[in-house]
Amino acid sequence: MARYTDASCRLCRREGEKLFLKGQRCYTGKCAIVRRGFAPGQHGQGRKKVSEYGVQLREKQKARRFYGILESQFRHTFETADRMKGKTGENLLRLLELRFDNVVYRLGLAASRPEARQLVLHAHFFVNGKKVNIPSLTMKAGDEIAVRPSHRSSPKFAELAPGRPLPKWLAFDRENLTGRVVQLPSREDVDLEVKEHLIVELYSR
Ligand code: SF4
Repeated sequence: MARYTDASCRLCRREGEKLFLKGQRCYTGKCAIVRRGFAPGQHGQGRKKVSEYGVQLREKQKARRFYGILESQFRHTFETADRMKGKTGENLLRLLELRFDNVVYRLGLAASRPEARQLVLHAHFFVNGKKVNIPSLTMKAGDEIAVRPSHRSSPKFAELAPGRPLPKWLAFDRENLTGRVVQLPSREDVDLEVKEHLIVELYSR
């Protein structure tokens, strides 16, 4: 499957904010946003007039890059959100939060979303007792995620850092390396500063 392989920090610099793509480094002074907080490229520091379309595009790109997915999959998620009841923008963010790789990251089982995706692809987890290696799988309320018993001794999980605060829609048993989706996430649970209505406007053009 295609994936982005260029420098991750360029993406943050382009969006002008931290997207937390590199784990621990993102919380240190080595973060490129701290050291060079302007857009990459020759004209990165120049002043630019941004069109309405440009503003909408940047919001979409920011959300897409934050969750680490490619355009076709993002568009597909948007179309699913559009078919659901309720506000399309909020549905979209909820579906993105409920991705299996994002849930692994939110549980603190990976240092970043790209790492979570890698761990899922390498089949480190059970979902409701079955081996699953699909990062885009949408979790449901009540789903249980567990590190497979044969992988629990991996240094990756043995060295779990105290980590980030656990969102209230998830529960985590650190002893048994098992997490659960307690409820569906709401808009307030999404910690990305994004104006989702601009994404809806972009795709409605
Ligand atoms: Fe983004 Fe992390 Fe790189 Fe900082 S260190 S620019 S937050 S990927």
